Amino acid sequence: MTVDDDPDVSRAIARDLRRRYGEQNRIVRAESGEAALDALRQMKLRGDLVAMILADYRMPQLNGIEFLERAMDIYPGARRALLTAYADTGAAIDAINVVDLDYYLLKPWDPPEEKLYPVVDSLMETWLSSDHRPVPETKVIGHRWSARSSEVREFLARNQVPYRWYASDEPEGRRLLEAADQDGQTLPVVITPDGTVLVEPSEPDLAKHVGLATNPSTDFYDLIVIGGGPAGLGAAVYGASEGLRTILVERTATGGQAGQSSRIENYLGFPDGVSGAQLTDRARRQATKFGAEILTTRAVVGLEINGSARTIRFADGTAISAHTVILATGVAYRKLNAPGVAELTGRGVYYGSALTEATSCIDQDIYIVGGANSAGQAAVYLGKRARSVTILVRAPSLTKSMSHYLIEQVDSVPTITVRTCTEVVEAHGTDHLEQLTLRGSNTGETETVDAQYLFVFIGAAPLTDWLADVVVRDDHGFVVAGPDLVVGGKLPPGWPLDRAPYHLESSVPGVFVAGDVRAESAKRVASAVGEGAMAVMFVHRYLEKL
Ligand SMILES: Cc1cc2nc3c(=O)[nH]c(=O)nc-3n(C[C@H](O)[C@H](O)[C@H](O)COP(=O)(O)OP(=O)(O)OC[C@H]3O[C@@H](n4cnc5c(N)ncnc54)[C@H](O)[C@@H]3O)c2cc1C
Repeated sequence: MTVDDDPDVSRAIARDLRRRYGEQNRIVRAESGEAALDALRQMKLRGDLVAMILADYRMPQLNGIEFLERAMDIYPGARRALLTAYADTGAAIDAINVVDLDYYLLKPWDPPEEKLYPVVDSLMETWLSSDHRPVPETKVIGHRWSARSSEVREFLARNQVPYRWYASDEPEGRRLLEAADQDGQTLPVVITPDGTVLVEPSEPDLAKHVGLATNPSTDFYDLIVIGGGPAGLGAAVYGASEGLRTILVERTATGGQAGQSSRIENYLGFPDGVSGAQLTDRARRQATKFGAEILTTRAVVGLEINGSARTIRFADGTAISAHTVILATGVAYRKLNAPGVAELTGRGVYYGSALTEATSCIDQDIYIVGGANSAGQAAVYLGKRARSVTILVRAPSLTKSMSHYLIEQVDSVPTITVRTCTEVVEAHGTDHLEQLTLRGSNTGETETVDAQYLFVFIGAAPLTDWLADVVVRDDHGFVVAGPDLVVGGKLPPGWPLDRAPYHLESSVPGVFVAGDVRAESAKRVASAVGEGAMAVMFVHRYLEKL
């Protein structure tokens, strides 16, 4: 970056620099300090690196030293040189202290081979040997105890959008906020790779800016899959690969519950385990490769039957239709019901989002509530990073709720302790979680412990209220399908066909169910994927007879 208010000098220095360095570097030229600062802010937002700033000393408004002082706030690592006339060498020498100037160059610099290039070569070399990683990804500037910051990180991670996190109270975070003209009162601030600044963005807004599809390309399909967990992704891969015009609609991010798993060890073909994020990324690419459309951040709130068309309605009132629908909406975490927990959610209390918070947990004391496999996996994952991990379970042991192999892993990590017959009765903290009150379920005795993190894994329930008047559900809200619909030899009320419902078909013909949302399902990744694939087979059978 060069700055000189004299256009001729400005052009001349940029020309000389381009001649020697232009192939590998971009030479940016400005004719005032303010214009140069604006350009630096834009570069900062886009994640560009600045190696060197060469500023003229005598400029109106901001002089070279004042400019460099402000430029340092944006790019502290850039090397700095001042261009001065002979008469101003005194000021240049003073600047060595004020702005930690690396060099001053006397005008004119002819011949550049002798007077300019050796100086720039040496400054570039110094810069290259320092840490200067490029930051092309999305940048998130937030606070570790801001619930929205944590949700945005979780959303980006689950959608496999590469991002870099900056704490708003650390120097680089402050620099980015300043470049984005933000005071840090409203967080998080997200800066996309092209330099667009989003302040506390909603998920649909974020999705749009980071290149995730949020709108359907047409209004009629062969198959609509609702839910982007393993069952939905399985259905989308098989549907699209077998020639069905397929769209998958997901309310947040693809991956579902499995996407939050640090290590799935019982999925066929992965003897060393696979993280949910990896599995999701592969499945998503596979579905897209076969031509399935994938929409994220679009919740389905209604299902209507219009003759042979099945219409789904989005929260914003718009709708799309298809010949068939596969419901793969899985289950959502059950909330921990204790005073203080709701207020501190996202600020020390998390539901299942152990993976994105893991880096903040280094050397902290962590509590995990729950005795099932998901709690065990999180404990093993966090146990390698945290100072201590305490698993709290109400039952007298883990044996009934956790797989044997995971109990062995939990036992083998020295930082993990299991406290049985214990429940959380209150969470305390002002800005963030500070303490938990625990109660012994046998003794009734309470104890208050210091805790900065609490991860909750206490089971899950289907979110199917929007289907209440459309398909048959059991008492817990799970969707009943196939032979389970035939009670005492009778077909479900309102069933319009002569044949009985196919396996995985709901009480509405052409609407199928796969994965955890199905009543009596196995609640496993493999079975969800399998049901997704199998449901597509019944979709074909249904379409043949349509
Ligand atoms: C932390 C954790 C670890 C686990 N580890 C293992 C393991 O090691 N092995 C194993 O076999 N199983 C494991 N499980 C269980 C496994 O992940 C689930 O059985 C599996 O994910 C179920 O898949 P699904 O597609 O049926 O539902 P889900 O994974 O629940 O996905 C449903 C999707 O539907 C979306 N959705 C819901 N409602 C709507 C709507 N109205 N509109 C649009 N989208 C909607 C949700 O956002 C979600 O993405 C684990 C679960 C958790 C939570």
